[in-house]
Amino acid sequence: MPYEQDDCCFLILGKEKALLWDTGIGIDHLRPLVEKITDLPVTVLISHDYFDHIGGNAEFDEVWCYDIDTAISHLTDGPTAEEMEELKTEMQLLSTVMDISGITVPDHIPGKAPTGTVKDGQLIDLGGRILEVLYTPGHSTSSIMLLDSENKLLFTGDMYYPGPLTAIDEDSSFPDYVASMRKVADRAADEKIEWVYCSHKYGKYVEGAVTVTKPAAEKQTANGTGETASGTDLTSWATLNEDGKVSFSLADAAAYRTKGASKATPGFDVIDYGQEDYVFGDSDSNARHWSVWVLKALQENADVLEALFNQ
Ligand SMILES: [Zn+2]
Repeated sequence: MPYEQDDCCFLILGKEKALLWDTGIGIDHLRPLVEKITDLPVTVLISHDYFDHIGGNAEFDEVWCYDIDTAISHLTDGPTAEEMEELKTEMQLLSTVMDISGITVPDHIPGKAPTGTVKDGQLIDLGGRILEVLYTPGHSTSSIMLLDSENKLLFTGDMYYPGPLTAIDEDSSFPDYVASMRKVADRAADEKIEWVYCSHKYGKYVEGAVTVTKPAAEKQTANGTGETASGTDLTSWATLNEDGKVSFSLADAAAYRTKGASKATPGFDVIDYGQEDYVFGDSDSNARHWSVWVLKALQENADVLEALFNQ
């Protein structure tokens, strides 16, 4: 399904059963596609309960998630009105760079009460193929990964994908993220994992768009002496208004994103490159004010981080 963040769903086949890892954003029908691929009974298992992974749940009979109340109620209720607004904004953004005129985003996507839950270490037998659930909180409290030891595959959900990773939502935890990734890294090494399947892939839709390049990092051992700004040049498309706020068009933001930046919202990219300290937007409840959240996370977790970074 076209989506600004390039969601991926995976259909994992055993001999007796199939497991569908996530159901996307729910603006089109996934089940007919799944049934074209397999006749096996399908169980949906979601990697975590964010709206871009649970949208198609109601189309399926068996839907499982990690055993935590917040995820169970979110799946039952379906995406919130706020999440649907976010989805509409993101689809509007996507429409500036590709033709999605045949797609309508509904006002509401139905939820489905989970028919089963999973726990850390649980084995799921698909018939000749065993998957192990790894509980990996961090990105969200309901985040899990799936390990297929025999085939040396790891399904990572949103805990790991080729792009900047986020622990910026209300139920995110940076220390949990660190702990989960250590656990998985050890396990992946032990199992000699060869393939990692991630739930976002970040496509490139636009030719000839603004190019953002990441300068090579240089080791710095002393305070700099520069008198002019350095880093990613945003001036070709962002406008500094008279009131001191920065604005940009959706098309420019999309072009920026699709040329290798991480998110449609340019502020996120600034985090990734770590070069400038701009704040975009004026919400105080989301990651656009990332510096506040980063500082908060650092302060709250100073003990854990001190131990990690001073090893
Ligand atoms: Zn996601």
